[in-house]
Amino acid sequence: MDINRVLEDNYRNFGISSDVYELGREAEKALSERFEEIDKLAEINQLKVLSAFRENRVSETDFVKTTGYGYDDSGRDKLECVYASVFRGEDALVRAQLISGTHAISTALFGNLRPGDELLCPCGKPYDTLDSIIGLNGAAGSLAEYGVTYRQVDLKDDFGFDYEAIRDAINEKTALVEIQRSRGYAQRPAFSVDEIGELVRFVKSVKPELRVMVDNCYGEFVEDKEPLEVGADIMVGSLIKNPGGGLAPIGGYIVGNSDMVEKSAYRLTAPGLGKEIGANLGVNKDMFQGLFMSPQVVAGAEKGAVFAAFILEKLGFDVSPRPFEGRHDIIQAVNFGAPDGLRAFCEGIQSAAPVDAFVRPVPSDMPGYDSQVIMAAGNFISGASIELSCDGPMRPPYTAFFQGGLTWYHAKTGILTAVQKLFDAGVVCR
Ligand SMILES: *Cc1c(COP(=O)(O)O)cnc(C)c1O
Repeated sequence: MDINRVLEDNYRNFGISSDVYELGREAEKALSERFEEIDKLAEINQLKVLSAFRENRVSETDFVKTTGYGYDDSGRDKLECVYASVFRGEDALVRAQLISGTHAISTALFGNLRPGDELLCPCGKPYDTLDSIIGLNGAAGSLAEYGVTYRQVDLKDDFGFDYEAIRDAINEKTALVEIQRSRGYAQRPAFSVDEIGELVRFVKSVKPELRVMVDNCYGEFVEDKEPLEVGADIMVGSLIKNPGGGLAPIGGYIVGNSDMVEKSAYRLTAPGLGKEIGANLGVNKDMFQGLFMSPQVVAGAEKGAVFAAFILEKLGFDVSPRPFEGRHDIIQAVNFGAPDGLRAFCEGIQSAAPVDAFVRPVPSDMPGYDSQVIMAAGNFISGASIELSCDGPMRPPYTAFFQGGLTWYHAKTGILTAVQKLFDAGVVCR
């Protein structure tokens, strides 16, 4: 049996032409060193996670479901110890009751800011859902309504930090600095952990008592260290992204300085209750196992991202990051320049999904967006963007933000199917 032949035949049966298959083969060959590097990072992070499990004596009894108040929920407490170990924090809050990344960010901000304080974003406008938390759009219940003011310093034209303007923006009210690691869905690169460290050191040199929070969404396990290791005080993320490993059905985390984690817990539950309550509802095993799987899942997603970047750049599209550029999150942006490309690409990703492959994504209106948005996702966990997914606003430059993939093989198949759609729709020609 010629295994290469069998593989190609199977891709052909899946709808991938030999031209597209060949593009994939070339890409894999060219990226072999890059893939090796990604595998080594996964190994480093797997060891980090395993050590934390071992040190904290994770045991089958930690998977027991609790209900009601959840007093003495030792499995929940141990999961938080494991998160604190993995991410090098003093303490952690990891809960199903943190229902999304935005909720975790909101909880940390409301927990640690007081009336009269000012929040500073030194990396330009943060992730869209923070507009309402900060109060940029007049939303009810915002920090602004509680007398917390906001200041923002935009990035320079080359996406570097504007240190002078940041120094000028720090004043006697500035209490907390929010740094977003990932590009989110903005046209700017993600920051490396070292770049974040440089910025943390700078703001603390201007005002030593400043606290720094990092929005770590999409960044976990992409590098060999995390933001707490370069001086950030807390970091926050979503369990339906990287650290949930595709298994956590819900959840968010806040990890870092114990005083700040505790204040966040008082905000999540109630003053006086804090971390002491909150039943795990039976999700502990999936949260432990998801974290255990996460380094490998993130590696698969990363391979998918560079594979897509390589092929799409070769086909003439503008991609960011470029295939051999350093990566600091799992998001891959591709500018298609016209609606047809964005649409065909999303259709391809959807049609190779394990769930809802028969559905055809169509652009539609979304709250908070000034243009229609097209989204492809065929997920086991609703909305989980560690699973292969893709979306983009239907406006120039028609950018697809592409991320995830629970396995490298699925990421590869999804991308090849999407590239096939670009050919079939005549967006690219042989
Ligand atoms: C996804 C994301 C969030 C918000 O997370 P949700 O779970 O979607 O609420 C915040 N910041 C960044 C950078 C993100 O990528």
